[in-house]
Amino acid sequence: MSHNILQKTITSKISCSGVGLHCGKKINITLIPAKDNSGIIFRRVDVKDKNNEIAANYLNVSATNLGTVIRNESGVEVSTVEHLMAAIWGCGIDNLLIEIDGGEVPIMDGSSEPFVFLIECAGIVSQKDDRREIEILKKVRYEEDGKFIEVLPAKEFSLNLEVDFKGVGKQKFSYTAISSSFKTDICCARTFCFKNEIDHMHKLGLARGGSLKNAIVLNEDGSIINEEGLRYKDELVKHKVLDFIGDMYLSGYFIVGHFNAFKPGHTINNQLLRKLFSDESAWRVV
Ligand SMILES: [Zn+2]
Repeated sequence: MSHNILQKTITSKISCSGVGLHCGKKINITLIPAKDNSGIIFRRVDVKDKNNEIAANYLNVSATNLGTVIRNESGVEVSTVEHLMAAIWGCGIDNLLIEIDGGEVPIMDGSSEPFVFLIECAGIVSQKDDRREIEILKKVRYEEDGKFIEVLPAKEFSLNLEVDFKGVGKQKFSYTAISSSFKTDICCARTFCFKNEIDHMHKLGLARGGSLKNAIVLNEDGSIINEEGLRYKDELVKHKVLDFIGDMYLSGYFIVGHFNAFKPGHTINNQLLRKLFSDESAWRVV
């Protein structure tokens, strides 16, 4: 068990910029140290006439069809939070203020690696209070359309994730604290899409910032269009692990439990958290 781990934030503030995958606009973000027990907060610095802070919490998730979108009660949103959230989880950061001057987290290279690099450049510092963790007390399962996620009691975080894409087939990945490292095994895995989805997204005015520099693009037969090929031979399932971790960190806690996920996505990831937290006999704060 990971008892007596102290909360962490970054040592000093640090900024980066990139384009939003869907809006195509240049967006700047600044990561700022935050005090104990403040959690992860986004602040839309371009919004000045209403509450511009949005807590990175599953109850604030307002859309999940393209990426994960969070929204506060004033209707102020930030979309595509999952890759940044995964990086924050992977670096063990509990408290952070993220200033952003637009409605979408920049896509960077399509992975979490640039955000991990940014956090490591800023430096990581331990704080006074113990980390907020929750322990799973009984199995909770959410399923929909042949997809499912379940979480079970375990001594630490672990995850078995399986995907099955047309043309690509099944890929599985098991993440455990002993055998896996977020930084080595997961953080470089890029987002991906099929070529035939791109035309559809462009017609809807989406994916304006998308390119082969920030996404893997696949033909219908599963072959890769990007000349540089893959970063990991199982990069697709690893990206799904990355997305899953980012979405689970919207719980507001490090979760001590074992997950099984079959064909997960942002929608069922959020549904699982809602189901888990609605049953108070299924978890407790450690
Ligand atoms: Zn993703």
